[in-house]
Amino acid sequence: MSIAATPHRAAQSDEWSRLQSHCQGVTPLDARWANWMVHVLTLHPDSLHRLIEEYGSPVNVIDPTPLQRNLEQLCDVAREREVDFRPFFARKANKCLTFVDAANQIDAGVDVASEPECQHTLDRGVHGENIICTAAIKTSSLIELCVRNQVTIAVDNDDELDVIHAVTSDLAIPAHIAIRLSGFSHNESKLHSRFGFDIDLVNEVADKLSVLAVNGRAELRGIHFHLDGYSADQRKSAIRQCLPLIDRLRDQGHAIRFLDIGGGLPISYLADGKQWSSFWKSLQRSLLGHQPPITYRNHGLGLRHDGSRINGTPNTYPYFQQPVRAEWFAQILNADSGDNRSIASALNERSLQLRCEPGRSSLDDCGMTVARVEFTKKHPNGDWFVGLGMNRTQCRTGSDDFLVDPIVLANPRASSTETAATSTRVSRSGYLVGAYCTESELIQLRKLQFPQGIQRGDLVVFPNTAGYFMHFLESRSHQFQLAKNVVFDEDASEVFQLDPIDATSR
Ligand SMILES: *Cc1c(COP(=O)(O)O)cnc(C)c1O
Repeated sequence: MSIAATPHRAAQSDEWSRLQSHCQGVTPLDARWANWMVHVLTLHPDSLHRLIEEYGSPVNVIDPTPLQRNLEQLCDVAREREVDFRPFFARKANKCLTFVDAANQIDAGVDVASEPECQHTLDRGVHGENIICTAAIKTSSLIELCVRNQVTIAVDNDDELDVIHAVTSDLAIPAHIAIRLSGFSHNESKLHSRFGFDIDLVNEVADKLSVLAVNGRAELRGIHFHLDGYSADQRKSAIRQCLPLIDRLRDQGHAIRFLDIGGGLPISYLADGKQWSSFWKSLQRSLLGHQPPITYRNHGLGLRHDGSRINGTPNTYPYFQQPVRAEWFAQILNADSGDNRSIASALNERSLQLRCEPGRSSLDDCGMTVARVEFTKKHPNGDWFVGLGMNRTQCRTGSDDFLVDPIVLANPRASSTETAATSTRVSRSGYLVGAYCTESELIQLRKLQFPQGIQRGDLVVFPNTAGYFMHFLESRSHQFQLAKNVVFDEDASEVFQLDPIDATSR
């Protein structure tokens, strides 16, 4: 498939405003759209219709170029402070191998969470030294794969140490190890995690590692943590507690090279913070019955109303937040390390490499999900249901909803005479529903408006879904095929090519 040349920018921006006006939440949440997405949607909507015909609905469209930009931004922040730094792309956030290649091209590392992820990453030519394995469950075969290829193992528990002992005895190769720590104290309480060794017990782990090290079975190379949530302050606390510990471990003879602060770098999906706060105020009014519902059957997205009060906390990602990514990272490096120097200087003075493992934030602007409308239907209460050829596992994470307005692309084949004659574009507001046979199968819980109507054959496009939304929960329930993933590359002879994860049968 090839696509036409770029017309004038102004024409493109008019077309874009027109497109955005075709679908908005009853309380709008306008997305940040990457330039390449605007480009495809305004200039090549036909190519998206053709992709759906070829591969079925939905199709994930990805572009790896923003990943390189996102990681380079972090490198710039570190370079300005002369910090030795390497980001590791957490590939569990998206299964496409294109992103692994893109990270490898700029010499970033890769964080893998399972044996297939580790094997694929090695198969793509990423050197084992540039891979860290943080899998929650590590079978002996995964540990063997890591040891054979010098992949760093982020050790979580004593049983893993025992397996490492057994595997390295057989192979006579030392394992590269990072200790995963948790239980840091922050604001006078302990940060809970089910992962890692409690920081107060680190001496026992270090003693065990000393035994392994003496026998040439293991090299303790780094300290690792990954915290839940996106708090920069919690990460500052954790780093302050890791630094003296690293000094002690080095004194005991462990050649610690790096501190790895995990992922959780925040991003924003929305263009406007005011819309985000208005949305939550509006939802509360609906829950209290002061206005009609703006979510399906007045879903609270984590909020509950008890009498005249609203309780609970939003069970969603903070779709608008500040600061994000690079600025957030800079705040951490600039923060006091606990002895009147910045964290950046404290790392430098120790000749300690800083690492992090961004997943979601690496994939900011890297993908969109396109689905076809298969029916529209009016419910007796007046709401319309818009049935999409997809299911809710194809645009969802663990949280309640994807709180971003999609774009609707009209079906070019629907002739204007047909539309006028049958008045099919009458569905003006309602809910996107999916293919799983449950009452709760909504693609988005928010009520959307379609001022120009929406009908069978139109496409609905969800922005910025590459980080987790495409693959983290995707399921083959009802025996539906998984969505195909295509890579957009305007300079290639085939502008849309299948990602290698789909191109070969695995
Ligand atoms: C999931 C995960 C990450 C990535 O987290 P993001 O929030 O996507 O940046 C990094 N490290 C570990 C250990 C993880 O489990």
